[in-house]
Amino acid sequence: MQKKRLVSVLLVGALTFGSAVQVKADDLQDAQNQASELQDKKAAAQAEKDNLAAQLEKIVDDMDKTKSDIEKKQEEIAAKTDELIAAQIDENNQYNSMKLRIQYMYENGNGQFLETLLESKSIAEFLSNAEYIAQISEYDRNMLVEFQDIVTEVEDQKKDLEEENKKLEEMQTSLQEQQTEMESLIESKSEEISSLSSELGEVNEKIASLKAEAERQARMQQEAQAAASGSSGGTSGGGGTTVTPTPPYTGGGSGRLQNPCPSAYISSEFGGRASPGGIGSTNHKGRDYAASTGSPIYAAASGSVIEVGYNGARGNYVIINHGDLATLYQHCSRILVSSGQSVSTGQNIALVGSTGASTGPHLHFEVWVNRTPVDPRLYL
Ligand SMILES: [Zn+2]
Repeated sequence: MQKKRLVSVLLVGALTFGSAVQVKADDLQDAQNQASELQDKKAAAQAEKDNLAAQLEKIVDDMDKTKSDIEKKQEEIAAKTDELIAAQIDENNQYNSMKLRIQYMYENGNGQFLETLLESKSIAEFLSNAEYIAQISEYDRNMLVEFQDIVTEVEDQKKDLEEENKKLEEMQTSLQEQQTEMESLIESKSEEISSLSSELGEVNEKIASLKAEAERQARMQQEAQAAASGSSGGTSGGGGTTVTPTPPYTGGGSGRLQNPCPSAYISSEFGGRASPGGIGSTNHKGRDYAASTGSPIYAAASGSVIEVGYNGARGNYVIINHGDLATLYQHCSRILVSSGQSVSTGQNIALVGSTGASTGPHLHFEVWVNRTPVDPRLYL
């Protein structure tokens, strides 16, 4: 009895595998969609980061170039400063020597000046001397002006160079600001990528575990099917786990189950043709109760609703586990219970309908024992 109970629990489990695997498949699809979305996001973030990195590289190149421009400019300024100093020295020397000459002329008085003139041996010489003296002062004046002009010109050039240098340094400062900004953008992009990566890792783990779970369930389903076909063939798998086959219906039931649809007439019995292999290999796996749509369907025994669902073959259906056996109610127009709920014998659990593969309103009622549908009459 204990063994039978265990077996029927397994059987009921097997019945639910189809939809459970389906749910897992949907979960898996969702997770895979999520993973591919995350991968797209990550690729986009990576592309943005690459683009930022390329911009940063250009900024750094520009900074290198600006830095070398600044160095060149500062060399030019240094050279210009030397040139200016030289020009200022020239100017100063000229000024000093001019002053000396003028001072000399004054100190030696007009006497010297006159003497020079008077020592002239000719008028021409005198004129020449007079002119010479005048020329000297004019020469000094011109030289001084010339040196002053040079100093001013060099000063202007130096000022221009300093102006250019200032612009380069401003450019460098702005490039440095851009660099800082770009680095912080890249940093935040990296953080985004790393967070997407870890999210992706979690989803991939979920995918792996869903796949493993689906494989495990598929294996269990195969094992359950193999065991079911083994028992219907009359041979147990060896090792002493003998399952007592349910005897074929010979008239009269155990009364374990109550009529699930008393308002109906029986339109089709279990089987439909002789089955040489025993119970599991018949072509009609249940008993049909023809009744008008909306007629009540009652729980054939107390138990717990282990599944409520819909599929194209069964229509709306309810599976109730009773421990030693399970009952299945198909083609319902409405279901009045939900999965996990406990029901008592005779409780109205659904209404007759014609949903799924059905040609008219009826209840298709199945009783499962040891992973196999059996003739419900054995238990009614
Ligand atoms: Zn049927």
